[in-house]
Amino acid sequence: ERDWRIFREDYNISIKGGRIPNPLRSFEESDIKKDILDIIEKVGYTEPTPIQRQAIPIGFQNRDIIGVAETGSGKTLAFLIPLLVWIQSLPKLARLEDADQGPYALVMAPTRELANQIEEESNKFGDPLGIRTVSVIGGLSREEQGMKLRMGCEIVIATPGRLVDVLENRYLVLNQCTYVVFDEADKMIDMGFEPDVQKILSHMPVTNEKPDTDDAENEDTLMKNFLSKHKYRQTVMFTATMPPAVERLARKYLRRPAYVYIGSVG
Ligand code: ADP
Ligand code: MG
Repeated sequence: ERDWRIFREDYNISIKGGRIPNPLRSFEESDIKKDILDIIEKVGYTEPTPIQRQAIPIGFQNRDIIGVAETGSGKTLAFLIPLLVWIQSLPKLARLEDADQGPYALVMAPTRELANQIEEESNKFGDPLGIRTVSVIGGLSREEQGMKLRMGCEIVIATPGRLVDVLENRYLVLNQCTYVVFDEADKMIDMGFEPDVQKILSHMPVTNEKPDTDDAENEDTLMKNFLSKHKYRQTVMFTATMPPAVERLARKYLRRPAYVYIGSVG
């Protein structure tokens, strides 16, 4: 059962998609483990924001998601917490041995400034957890950038243009990257990044096809069988607005996403 009481008076919340989990009541009363709760406390966040309440439990289901909420509403943590938890779930030894296969996750942002903000938040949470983030945003020479990347990282945060350059010059591979975040997707479209996004995704040896079924009962089993044979990409998209061009992008790259819209009232 969904708990619609949370923020019902203050926000317009629209959610679409099957099997939507309950929103978070609080950080403490959630599936978030102590190591991350401790960081949340240290950083000083007492309550999840509306988009965090709705999107974090969906993120824990490891499914595609479109999150729409205004600027300043806490979207970064809404995608970072499930992403960090997913990386924590990967075997640690593999993380060390497969370092030359590239990061596990890629976060794309339209500008250097936005990528820097995400990197800051990612380091705040990733440092204590031993999860490394490297940004690929220009400003360094290719060689310097390559050196930073060769030291290994689990997460790359990048602006699309610079990332294409680094990939095409083989300073980075995405051989084991199966988790992609498009942040500020509306700005990304406005800035004409879609061809770059297409190129970047072509560097990943993964599909976002999904077994075709409307049989929700058997969906988990079908997915499990499918995943034992294929690697597939989990794709999440966050945006402040949802113009038709962003809808098109979502239809093209996301696979049956859960859709969360948070609008403020008045
Ligand atoms: P958006 O991406 O939606 O524009 P951000 O993720 O950049 O928003 O967050 C906006 C600001 O709110 C940041 O300064 C961030 O540190 C802060 N913030 C995020 N989550 C919380 C929270 N749960 N409680 C208090 N502050 C938060
Ligand atoms: Mg943001």
